Amino acid sequence: MRRKLVAGNWKMFGLKADLPEVSAIAAAAAANPGVDVALCVPFTLISAAAKAAGAMPVGAQDVHASPNGAHTGCVAAPMLVEAGARLAIVGHSERRAAQHETDAEVKAKAEAAHGAGLQAILCIGETLEERDAGRAEAVVTAQVAASLPDGAAGSWLALAYEPVWAIGTGRTPTEADVAAMHGAIRAKLRALIGAEADAVRILYGGSVNAGNAASLLACADVDGALVGGASLTAAKFVPIIEAAA
Ligand code: 13P
Repeated sequence: MRRKLVAGNWKMFGLKADLPEVSAIAAAAAANPGVDVALCVPFTLISAAAKAAGAMPVGAQDVHASPNGAHTGCVAAPMLVEAGARLAIVGHSERRAAQHETDAEVKAKAEAAHGAGLQAILCIGETLEERDAGRAEAVVTAQVAASLPDGAAGSWLALAYEPVWAIGTGRTPTEADVAAMHGAIRAKLRALIGAEADAVRILYGGSVNAGNAASLLACADVDGALVGGASLTAAKFVPIIEAAA
């Protein structure tokens, strides 16, 4: 039985003035021991957020594939560990689009995270154009195949299915579409890594909120949520944690 994981992605939001929200979310995580909770904050907030979060894991939203080097502006996995991070998101669609990250780079980033002892949440998802063309499952399962890190295992890796058109739009796929896609991802994982596929959590992300969390989390093969806007305050995020508990 896979434990549910509810992870927040603060994206480019968060200053020290927001640390009380981290503490309040961590308190809710402690009060709901049946669900795993994590918060991925901007690099600049990791150290302070990790202190405010107590036992709740704090993570980054990206990581470089190399442990060090001449890469101006980038941050390596050992640096994240030193700052107090315990996980990293890799391959978010906003980075695949704006920073032109490829599947091969995302794979290398996940491997670098694992190599430094971080957990990884690897994001995949189709655009609206791809869904309308009937290619959503083909696109997403191809992303899984091309970006899955070597040695992928449920002990350190989760996938997050985030349809690009559902991110920040208030739109979500139907429950049937979510279940079908998560089933297709699980089947692809089984083809790639055999029985270990059943240990890898597959999160849903895209416009998750207090109102829709319970029904999305109840879909077959949905093992948690990756939450953007509704993770920024305890008032919005705690009901989602409670829906997963
Ligand atoms: P929203 O929850 O704001 O739609 O963002 C989802 C997301 O991109 C999480 O990584």
